[in-house]
Amino acid sequence: MLPQEIIRRKRQGDVLSEDEIAFFVNGIADFSISEGQVAAFAMAVFFQGMTMDERAALTRNMRDSGTVLDWKKLGLENGPVVDKHSTGGVGDKVSLMLGPIVAACGAYVPMISGRGLGHTGGTLDKFDSIPGYRTAPDLAEFAKVTREVGCAIIGQTADLAPADKRFYGIRDVTATVESIPLITASILSKKLAAGLDALVMDVKFGSGAFMNEYDRARELAESITEVATRNGVPTTALLTDMDQVLGETVGNALEMKEAVDFLTGKNQEQRVYDVTLALAAEMLGLTGIADDVGDGLQKASAALSSGRAAEVFSRMVGALGGPGDFVENIGKYQEAAPMVAEISATKTGRILSMDARKVGLALVALKGGRTRADQEIDHAVGFTDFVRVGQTVSAASPLCVAYTRDENQLRVAEKMLREAIVIGEGEVAQTGTAGAVR
Ligand code: URA
Repeated sequence: MLPQEIIRRKRQGDVLSEDEIAFFVNGIADFSISEGQVAAFAMAVFFQGMTMDERAALTRNMRDSGTVLDWKKLGLENGPVVDKHSTGGVGDKVSLMLGPIVAACGAYVPMISGRGLGHTGGTLDKFDSIPGYRTAPDLAEFAKVTREVGCAIIGQTADLAPADKRFYGIRDVTATVESIPLITASILSKKLAAGLDALVMDVKFGSGAFMNEYDRARELAESITEVATRNGVPTTALLTDMDQVLGETVGNALEMKEAVDFLTGKNQEQRVYDVTLALAAEMLGLTGIADDVGDGLQKASAALSSGRAAEVFSRMVGALGGPGDFVENIGKYQEAAPMVAEISATKTGRILSMDARKVGLALVALKGGRTRADQEIDHAVGFTDFVRVGQTVSAASPLCVAYTRDENQLRVAEKMLREAIVIGEGEVAQTGTAGAVR
């Protein structure tokens, strides 16, 4: 087989066979297919698309390009193994609470998460704000913590879906990321390599989402659920809005604090609560721990209010090297940036909209997020007490509180946030959780 023939066939809209796809993926993984050919293939798929059969074949071949975890062999005889994946948001700290809630209900949640890039935050960066927490344990430790605690949140390992690593890197610099078949295979190859029994997707839409338009997000959700299910992993998706910051904080240590406050019942912002519990119910329903989504909601809510979820979180942090009393004494371990100042509204009115992407970029401007994968970030900067869309503010009342290192950073953040948050008169559309694909 010749790579250029496969590229040509895709370029003219032919449907590729499993063998052709397997050949191409092998060539990506072992570097026998050149970067130029991979880029041309990605562009051909970008324009011609792929059938569901092709997407399923691309996904499973990318999954099989590296290690595929087998949780039975890793000692999880009983209990379903389930995970959630979000397409990325601003202020999205849901995984921090969701993993422990679902584990407290009896499932195993080995959650392999990513770091933030661009305007979206990453779960792993939030865990990096905990002193001592190991985000890259070896497989034996990852399995042990999952087995003994029920939940382990760690980083992507190089041996899971290595074909995706190379393929994604090439797509990133050739304007071919935004292809639904390629996104489907990229996300799922990594998730399916984690050996899950079930998966729930949180597909975001809106200003801060990777797919702004609802219809495109829905198309992605349908593609992912279909392809994962065809590859033997029952998967459902919720569509949730990213038209404003999720919760009250943006910034790694600050979001960690919001998550701990949520788990301990000190502060449960309504939208965060709704999204987290809806995803938990979905996971519990899909794995059979709950009879249906309604039962799942009850079970998740009981795990949270009883403190069992907080207990799982605390044990996970301790088992992965963080302080054993992190939940009780978070203030002792988390540094917040020293310059604390309110960013105020400049006029009276309603919050009509919030450009969540711009808020995420304001965090990047404070060095709390990155524009290149290899950049170090400052975990202590960010924003708290965010206003919500629909809320009424008066001139000089706060839009949020900023934690910065110096006056210059504060001015930059202030300018960006005032541009991101539109104040005026009139109605606002609230979307929230807006549909499911089952
Ligand atoms: N996230 C991924 O992992 N892959 C994509 O292609 C897009 C987002």
